Amino acid sequence: MAEPDITVDILVVGAGAAGLSAALALANSGYNVAAVGALEAAGNGRTVALFEGSLRFLRAQKLWPHLTDIAAKIVAIELIDATNAPVPIPNLTFAAEEVGLQALGANIENNKLVPRLADLARQNPNIHLTQEWLDDIVYGEDAISAVFTSGHRINAKLIVAADGQRSTARKKAGIGTRRWTYPQVALTALLAHELPHHDRSIEFHTRSGPCTLVPLLPRAEAPHRSSLVWLMSAVEAERRKALAPAALADEIASEVEEIFGTMRLDSDVGFFPMAGMRVARLTGRRIALLGEAAHAFPPLAAQGLNLSLRDIAALVTCVDAARGAGQDIGGAPALRRYAEAREPDIDIRIRGIDLLNRSMLTDFLPVDLARGLGFFAMSAIGPLRRAALLEGILPDRPHHASTSRS
Ligand SMILES: Cc1cc2nc3c(=O)[nH]c(=O)nc-3n(C[C@H](O)[C@H](O)[C@H](O)COP(=O)(O)OP(=O)(O)OC[C@H]3O[C@@H](n4cnc5c(N)ncnc54)[C@H](O)[C@@H]3O)c2cc1C
Repeated sequence: MAEPDITVDILVVGAGAAGLSAALALANSGYNVAAVGALEAAGNGRTVALFEGSLRFLRAQKLWPHLTDIAAKIVAIELIDATNAPVPIPNLTFAAEEVGLQALGANIENNKLVPRLADLARQNPNIHLTQEWLDDIVYGEDAISAVFTSGHRINAKLIVAADGQRSTARKKAGIGTRRWTYPQVALTALLAHELPHHDRSIEFHTRSGPCTLVPLLPRAEAPHRSSLVWLMSAVEAERRKALAPAALADEIASEVEEIFGTMRLDSDVGFFPMAGMRVARLTGRRIALLGEAAHAFPPLAAQGLNLSLRDIAALVTCVDAARGAGQDIGGAPALRRYAEAREPDIDIRIRGIDLLNRSMLTDFLPVDLARGLGFFAMSAIGPLRRAALLEGILPDRPHHASTSRS
């Protein structure tokens, strides 16, 4: 039997990492929130690396203490050029201690993060969490109703669309998208390896894209573990899909120059065709888009959920400001402020990731030269390297806070 219709302040559609984080942050601000979604975790060896800016947000929301036991710290990121470019491209290391931090961020398995956030949402008295599938949206005078496939309805002042790249909420709000594809597939897996990672993430830049190892916590039978995101051509992905696990693990160990010795698979393997997506607008009538419903790009430099947590922080600020001023929390002024706050950050990440990805795929000499010069400048010039690092891990910081050591 369908649940009775309910009325809340804010409805979050989509219960992935972004939707659940949004529901928890909005509930912390005192709103009565409904969160609905399928509650399935994306497994397939996927993890999310969250950087210092995201950890500060999670600490401020008092969520971080509930996640530390599933999070592996990242103290350094090493970039190794393996494109065989005709110009020398130096390796680069970004270390937490260089910017006065103990860690740059933390890596969490998706299939641990999403259930943990769902548990926290279930325990929160301001959140009504249900497993439902959005079917339609109906507009009223000063509220909006979501209709689910069960026939159940939820009425709210504001709908937060966090229902992923194929967002139904976005479609029903009539918000268009532009999509593009890359000639790459990301292979993801969790790996057990012979040698310790010393909390380092290592990114090999190859002509088919980056091959990245990110530290994971140990398990009883696997003291040294990392997650893998390896971008490759569709043809290579098809070939590797057919490999036996041991043969695939050997290919991975060889691709990463046996930096952590021998390897074995410690999870299922995922294959994700790479695409980008941007939306025509971040908001509609009584609707705000966030997370992958609002932006998508290849998993380079671990940006996706980090960007989504910044969407959430901005949304909470905008609805709080509307409530504080006695305005409608789903009204046009609040939504306009949200869109204005988020558009520049989203735009720069989509363009930056696109450029970085395409610069590796081409063997056009001037592009290699530019990339080589960029890497050379960053490895030689301390302040530049630290500024780039802070931009990656703490993009919301005041910009004069950069360090003056050389
Ligand atoms: C290979 C890979 C590696 C990545 N690595 C990183 C990383 O290191 N760091 C990082 O920050 N980001 C990373 N990302 C991005 C990150 O995984 C996503 O941003 C993150 O999973 C959050 O996604 P989301 O919650 O916005 O969307 P999703 O995870 O897609 O969740 C959307 C949810 O909405 C539900 N839904 C859809 N339609 C409906 C409907 N009609 N009704 C109800 N529910 C619906 C879905 O079932 C799903 O549960 C990576 C992505 C990939 C592909």
